[in-house]
Amino acid sequence: MGTPRFLIPSRGQRPGMSMGEWKIDTLAAHLARRRGAGPVVDPIAVSTTYVLKDVEEGARYAQEKAPTTYYSRWGMPTNRLVEEAVATLEGGRYGLATASGMGAISSALLALVSKGDHILAGRSLYSGTTEIMTRYLPRFDVETTFVDPSEEGGFEEGLRENTSVVFVETPANPTMLITDITEAVAAAENAEAIVMADNTFATPINQRPLDLGVDVVLHSATKYFGGHSDVTGGLVVTREEALHDEIWETYKLLGPTLGAMDAFLIGRGLRTLPLRVRRQNETAKGLAEFLEDHPRVSKVYYPGLTSFPQHTLAKRQMRGFGAMLSFELKGGYKEAVRFVEGVKVAYLAVSLGGPETLVVHAASVTHGTLTSEERQMAGIPEGLVRVSVGLEDLEDLKEDFHQALR
Ligand code: PLP
Repeated sequence: MGTPRFLIPSRGQRPGMSMGEWKIDTLAAHLARRRGAGPVVDPIAVSTTYVLKDVEEGARYAQEKAPTTYYSRWGMPTNRLVEEAVATLEGGRYGLATASGMGAISSALLALVSKGDHILAGRSLYSGTTEIMTRYLPRFDVETTFVDPSEEGGFEEGLRENTSVVFVETPANPTMLITDITEAVAAAENAEAIVMADNTFATPINQRPLDLGVDVVLHSATKYFGGHSDVTGGLVVTREEALHDEIWETYKLLGPTLGAMDAFLIGRGLRTLPLRVRRQNETAKGLAEFLEDHPRVSKVYYPGLTSFPQHTLAKRQMRGFGAMLSFELKGGYKEAVRFVEGVKVAYLAVSLGGPETLVVHAASVTHGTLTSEERQMAGIPEGLVRVSVGLEDLEDLKEDFHQALR
């Protein structure tokens, strides 16, 4: 293979210091390049194919897992930097960069389930993930059942003999429900099921599921990793080589390859990830507290509030509470719509994780593709507003929300 696959030990070429000892801010700031002489930022490598020395080399590449100097769908050098970077931040060893978060989720799921298998998932998930499970995988005789992640013992009870995957998203979109990762992992162990965690909302700055025993971490890099609302991507991170290879085989055949230009943008975003996420955590907490005290608001869903029912659990497994929050208005659906259409600093838009604060009406937009039964199962009230808190000044946001609530 032309480039080293994993840099956690191998990238630490500074005398007396390995990257494994660096704090996360230092790691992130230095992730966009290979060590040694040369440019501080790696050039973008767009070539889709590489000249082979001889037939023997070609035959070797054809058998290799994820080489970066053979053919782009197998792997690419700029993508590999991002894969290594995210694997490092997540405490993993192997990364796989995809063209979207759904590319990561669908590749990993399709790699790890077979005909007749059962998936056990938390009931509140990104709508695309729910749809894959309820509408797509049943075609292959793969059934999913959903449990309330806030109910103790729910995962243990929901397991079946044929459960091959336990899927968690925590905090969950858009209810912020927290799954006790350790409990889900312990339950899955009994069934020898693979545990997959969508860590998009938390990011590795706030939570590292692999450290808690999860097998596969998934990301929409479109969100905090890219961080600037200008790139679509996804990541699959694992610690075990066999698991990575298995997912890579499916990925290679389905073909959700990330373009090198987009990989570059994601790599650039990663360098400021800790800084952005911590600031966004702080602003989100301030905004959640403001909303909690507002007379027009009936309920705020933010894991960092002491009033949040799963606050203690969130505190136990997270280092920060993230920048996603939801709230309900006393005036229900009508007032929620008036609010999202009335903001002036924030934008009415889907997606999350960028510098600008985005608000959206969950039931009709982000989760509008679900049936009303599916929305009910996911616990999404009709008047729920979801907020992705950006990098603006907290006071400007409070003022904006106040005028829109009025
Ligand atoms: N996971 C979560 C938690 C999300 O919020 C999203 C998108 O909003 C996805 C996955 C899918 O990501 P993408 O849109 O990059 O495919």
